[in-house]
Amino acid sequence: MYGVVMEVSEKTRTEILKRERLKKKMRLLKEKCIGCALCTSLYPDLFEIGKDGHANIKEGVIPDEEKLKEVIRSCPVQAIKLIEEKKNKF
Ligand code: SF4
Repeated sequence: MYGVVMEVSEKTRTEILKRERLKKKMRLLKEKCIGCALCTSLYPDLFEIGKDGHANIKEGVIPDEEKLKEVIRSCPVQAIKLIEEKKNKF
């Protein structure tokens, strides 16, 4: 049996890491969300409406920065945020 070796370029690796960091910074504020479904229509690969009537961020999807920023700008109640990680002050 032959194994498949996939080589990923440095540029691709950097892009994947950047997108993974972006996902960690995403927050969806359920208390603000009015369930209008605009995010799901703009970016259905990343957002879905849950049984509670509010948007959810889908698991296992690594966001595209430009598409995500468009959704953030479009949300009528600013329920989607990118949170900057605080640096330790020692
Ligand atoms: S666009 Fe904003 S308010 Fe509308 S469902 Fe998505 S997160 Fe909620």
